[in-house]
Amino acid sequence: MTATRTELVPFDAALETYDPAMGLEVHVELNTASKMFCGCSTVFGAEPNTQVCPTCLGLPGALPVVNGKAVESAIRIGLALNCSIAPWSRFARKNYFYPDMPKNFQTSQYDEPIAYDGWTEVTVETDEGPRVFRIDIERAHMEEDTGKSLHVGGSTGRIHGADHSLVDYNRAGIPLIEVVTKPILGAGKYAPLVARAYVASLRELVKALDVSDARMEQGSMRCDVNLSLAPSGSDVLGTRSETKNVNSLRSVERAVRYEVERHAGILDAGQKVVQETRHWHEDTGVTTSGREKSDAEDYRYFPEPDLVPVAPSDAWVEELRATLPEPPAERRARLQAEWGYSDLEMRDVVGAGAIDLIEATISAGATPTAARKWWLGDLARRANDTATPIDELGVTPTQVAEVQALVDAKRINDKLARQVFDGLVAGEGTPEEIVAARGLEVVSDDGALAAAVDRAIEANPDVADKIRDGKVAAAGALIGAVMKDMRGQADAGRVRELIIEKLS
Ligand code: ZN
Ligand code: MN
Repeated sequence: MTATRTELVPFDAALETYDPAMGLEVHVELNTASKMFCGCSTVFGAEPNTQVCPTCLGLPGALPVVNGKAVESAIRIGLALNCSIAPWSRFARKNYFYPDMPKNFQTSQYDEPIAYDGWTEVTVETDEGPRVFRIDIERAHMEEDTGKSLHVGGSTGRIHGADHSLVDYNRAGIPLIEVVTKPILGAGKYAPLVARAYVASLRELVKALDVSDARMEQGSMRCDVNLSLAPSGSDVLGTRSETKNVNSLRSVERAVRYEVERHAGILDAGQKVVQETRHWHEDTGVTTSGREKSDAEDYRYFPEPDLVPVAPSDAWVEELRATLPEPPAERRARLQAEWGYSDLEMRDVVGAGAIDLIEATISAGATPTAARKWWLGDLARRANDTATPIDELGVTPTQVAEVQALVDAKRINDKLARQVFDGLVAGEGTPEEIVAARGLEVVSDDGALAAAVDRAIEANPDVADKIRDGKVAAAGALIGAVMKDMRGQADAGRVRELIIEKLS
């Protein structure tokens, strides 16, 4: 770690001199019920060290057995990424010491990954409109997760300054798939967006395959960002840095951008980029030095002697190919056409993570317009305000369709519907029950409405005169007064009719 501190070069200026190259390594935790090589549970959040056994603790004499479901998930991910599936592949021991890795080696795959040579495509919004970038996939291999260290006594939760450390091995041995891209070249100033779009599409893909919950904030999907710069037009790659465990889409984009600025500063100062791992700091938006890492790091890989090779038959691979879901990009295009959304509307829907919710709301009877109105309006705002994933608000697609049905029946209006959503979030029952319990039903009883209209006319004689003179547009002010009087629970259409009747 010899580089002295240099100034960052602003992103746009850096791109005038250098071309970025990226390599993205994404670890996806599979959602199998048991671990990769033993029968221990994988349920998240259990008491520390309650989901362990001699195998995942690496005790002498314990023998691992491959989880067939994890192999199946690995093959399906490989196929969805257009990879070749190896008819024969082996596990290997990756030897290194780390306190949260009980065996002192990680069972991984080395030169014989189960899936290799694939590709996928992502679309990024550029100055010239949407542009498709092809991402080549080097490999997708199977391995196991490590445990978790907890550093106690310091102020930061990091090992520096801690009194002691605790280790929880519940996560040790949970199946991982590591997906590695080939160098991504030619993205230029769109590199941060391409990185983000790729990780987003991979997340969408593994969710569609139902092989992982892919929650970046819980660490079940994490991205390592390799980045290097080379002088524009050069075909030699520069020295790379590897920013580890970036755990949100936004951070992937920011980390690429930051590393471009940092590398450019080092190169402009005539210094050499250090090949090292780096830590991403979400709060400050910078990376800091981790450990130096050479290309040919000696992990003393050797084939795992306790496991038989994985040799999926062609028939099984073809059977699994037939289970692949519609590719996410094709599904989006199909749904957009079915729903009649504009490109911009569809992009907002995808951005809000609401595509499945809207599809389910439409199946439950709402129109595409109504489904989008609620999910991207009131409900997206609630999700945003409370930093809750939109699918965990406590409001289901069926309930949204029920609320819209109440609006369509003129029993509530859009404003009152928001109060129904308040009730749903608070767990007060079904929309129907909430309307009854909160007394939200719109009043369309002429007696009550007519009395309120009379009060409004009396209180606003000037407005009433205008309407008598034929300025019907002025009725809005009286409707507003009646709505206020009736706490929003009047049928606005009927109120308007009554006002016109009375004043003409
Ligand atoms: Zn175990
Ligand atoms: Mn790995």
